[in-house]
Amino acid sequence: MTITKELIDATTILTNGRFLTRTASTTSSFQDCMVIKGGIIQYIGSASTPTITTYKDAGVSTQDLQDRYVLPGFIDGHMHFLMLGQSLQKLSLDGCKDLNEIRSRIKEFGEENPEKSRLLCRGWMHSMTNGEAKANMLEGLDEKNRPIFIDSKDLHSCWCNQAALDEMGVKYLKDPEGGSISRDEQGNPSGLLSEAAQLVIVWPHIAKVATMSEKTSALKAAIKAYHEVGYTGLVDMAMDENAWEAILALRKEKGELRMRVAAHWVIMPSTGEEARLKQVERAIELNKEFNKQTSPDLRIVGIKVICDGVIDACTAALREPYSNNGVSTDPIWNAEMLGPVVKKAAGAGLQCALHAIGDNAVKIAIDAIEQHAAIGKRHRIEHLELTSPEDAKRLGKLGITASIQPVHSDPAILRAWPKLLGPDRLGRAFAYKEFADGGAAVAIGSDSPTAPHAPIKNLYVATTRRSAREPGAGDAPVNEHFKIGLCEAVMAATQGAAYSCFADERVGSLEIGKKADFVVVDMEYEPGDLLKAEVKQTWFEGKMIYESQIS
Ligand SMILES: [Zn+2]
Repeated sequence: MTITKELIDATTILTNGRFLTRTASTTSSFQDCMVIKGGIIQYIGSASTPTITTYKDAGVSTQDLQDRYVLPGFIDGHMHFLMLGQSLQKLSLDGCKDLNEIRSRIKEFGEENPEKSRLLCRGWMHSMTNGEAKANMLEGLDEKNRPIFIDSKDLHSCWCNQAALDEMGVKYLKDPEGGSISRDEQGNPSGLLSEAAQLVIVWPHIAKVATMSEKTSALKAAIKAYHEVGYTGLVDMAMDENAWEAILALRKEKGELRMRVAAHWVIMPSTGEEARLKQVERAIELNKEFNKQTSPDLRIVGIKVICDGVIDACTAALREPYSNNGVSTDPIWNAEMLGPVVKKAAGAGLQCALHAIGDNAVKIAIDAIEQHAAIGKRHRIEHLELTSPEDAKRLGKLGITASIQPVHSDPAILRAWPKLLGPDRLGRAFAYKEFADGGAAVAIGSDSPTAPHAPIKNLYVATTRRSAREPGAGDAPVNEHFKIGLCEAVMAATQGAAYSCFADERVGSLEIGKKADFVVVDMEYEPGDLLKAEVKQTWFEGKMIYESQIS
């Protein structure tokens, strides 16, 4: 082998690591050395081979990874890119004890940020204000009387001042399906918007009114936060014109995002089939322009349909009524609405991602894919929180990816579930192991910003079913028998997520010829120890893009 100067400059040898090379569902294997050149993995194996010695003797730069684990860069299989960025820039009210403290913190934030056109906050808990959240409690703390929006810590409601209510025109809106707008005796909005009202009124509004520079800086914040926890890729699960425009603007500004992005275009239920199919046409058009060949790191891969709501708000569509109140909720999309949309999208080669949480919605979603889409095109179902044993098995048979967010199975947020579902159904919640055993491809995501985004904490919940949010609270695992193994979970968060969006030929595993996207982690490779794991470095296409400052 002739070693030229050019080769020496472009090559890096990483030694003394534990490089994850292969993983079956029960065992992982590791090698101690990897060579990368020009962003591509050239070699992975033992450090004591003649080739490595020749490289070293020729002066190729070497990095000692101090016996740390090296995993493929994580890919978040389901998240919301722009919303995450925006949530990271909000004022945190964590630790506030009462209304006075909340007011003074917001006042200070307003004074320190005169350029902001709105004051966005997060982390409020109902207990901080004795369960009260009135617009008038937020008056007189900002000279400019800017709109103030305060997300509750659980992200299920938003507390607004009058300027915010006015800006959104809440006075003229009805309560959306599955959501509520708190009102005073005269029927005027009083400040709090809950559940679907937050999702369909507040969040889209905030996303829309932000300026382009606010949006691109939010996206930058999201990318930075993702690098810090080891992500090199993501799948955005509700792309729209507003967010897409901002992402394109950021790519133009920076040249590259250093984050591999695949996105599903969200299809709103709208009124009428024509309006729904029109949205699918837009997704098809964008896929023609931004696909694997033309734009491999920023693609529109398919559509997203939100078939039902969530269990906590009793808006998920169940086969039997909720146990606590006897309520039956219809899916947002029934079979008649869903069929033509899936057919059109799948027929044009797009991937269909169907949000289905309740067991009725899951059945409708699987049926729609079975009847209207070809097997093997990597269609997917998002969440799958409550499934019948038959449907859990059908996923694998029909080649449907199980897109799961283990953070949602954290027992600390499921304390209301025994009442909502009753013991039998609770025993069917988050049946991850059944999906995997049935042969379904599994992709792990975080659903950030609705849940914490750190991937290794997510793996902790997947593999132990214990709480990563409140590890000391002593909640018993919910359905521990559905946990998956560590090797399986790591795969689902890397290769599985890559597979879910047809990125697995380029990324998702440490193999020769693949992009050198990887993460160096100080950890014990044991489920029970994952909360202590620390991401030390994140590499994207052969370049270190994040290094922890903690020694
Ligand atoms: Zn989501």
